[in-house]
Amino acid sequence: MFMKRALFFSFVAFLLMLSCSSAKKETESQSVQTSTHKEPVRPPFSSDSAFFFIKQQCEFGPRVPNTPAHENCAEYLVEKLKSFGLSVSTQKFTATAYNQTVLNGVNIIGRLHPEMDNRIILFSHWDSRHVCDNDSHENINKPVMGANDGASGVGVLLEVARQFQLERDSIGIDFVFLDLEDYGQPSFETDEKKDTWCLGAQYLARNPYYDRRPQKGILLDMVGAASPYFGFDQISLNFAEPLLQEVWSAAHALDYNSSFVPNVSGAVLDDHYYINTIAGIPTIDIIDYNQNRGFPSTWHTVNDTPEHIDKKTLQMVGEVLISVLRKK
Ligand SMILES: [Zn+2]
Repeated sequence: MFMKRALFFSFVAFLLMLSCSSAKKETESQSVQTSTHKEPVRPPFSSDSAFFFIKQQCEFGPRVPNTPAHENCAEYLVEKLKSFGLSVSTQKFTATAYNQTVLNGVNIIGRLHPEMDNRIILFSHWDSRHVCDNDSHENINKPVMGANDGASGVGVLLEVARQFQLERDSIGIDFVFLDLEDYGQPSFETDEKKDTWCLGAQYLARNPYYDRRPQKGILLDMVGAASPYFGFDQISLNFAEPLLQEVWSAAHALDYNSSFVPNVSGAVLDDHYYINTIAGIPTIDIIDYNQNRGFPSTWHTVNDTPEHIDKKTLQMVGEVLISVLRKK
């Protein structure tokens, strides 16, 4: 995932004009925080299990495209989704990277209740980055393990899938693991190229896998660091504000006010940008980011490893997701 300040400046200014009503809504939701102190009923979600799924992905090594670790992890994810009773398919494709490398990508899709018309997509990217371009010079050409940046979202979604496999009256859920999110142009290159990130999302948005089109989507990215800051991403706010408000209200009902903060945190170029703009499915991003401190400190460094995952954060995000899904 990547933050493109310059490219997005004019886009964000335009979006801000469109969303002038959001300031009022933020004030309203902040006042809700103090209204109740009753311990909420928590939906079932095991952060131990989600953490185990993160570790299993990392045990393959960094899931960098065109490597055996990447291939083996794809097989693991397909099998895992099948084991939860989902209807599984894959989208294999090739994409040309910023440096002309031809990358072999695979988007992995597991559908719960494929016959239902009422559907939501839950996304996360499963690849990990080929370079640590936010690290010191000697580490810059090493791949990122991606425990948080990639595996955390997938781990939470696998656990949600495991929890939902026995729910009878639930909605249709498409679990989509996107590939080639993180092979974007390194920050040290100066001739900035367009659309080099989120190649799997771009492919999926142009080549729909579904016969029943989901009405909305939620993307998870970097949902495993300690003390997260999940704010309102500007792109989510402008394309899917009702869903954003709904998810943050669910978080507040679970007393997660200090992590799910209803303030604009910045505009993040992530997979949801292409799902919104190309596929036209209103999709939000739950991502640990704010304008002041940026992404978590392990982002695109050699320290993005399972030891830096905090189960409390996984628990929080899992409970919020399940609580939103159960209201659908
Ligand atoms: Zn990344």
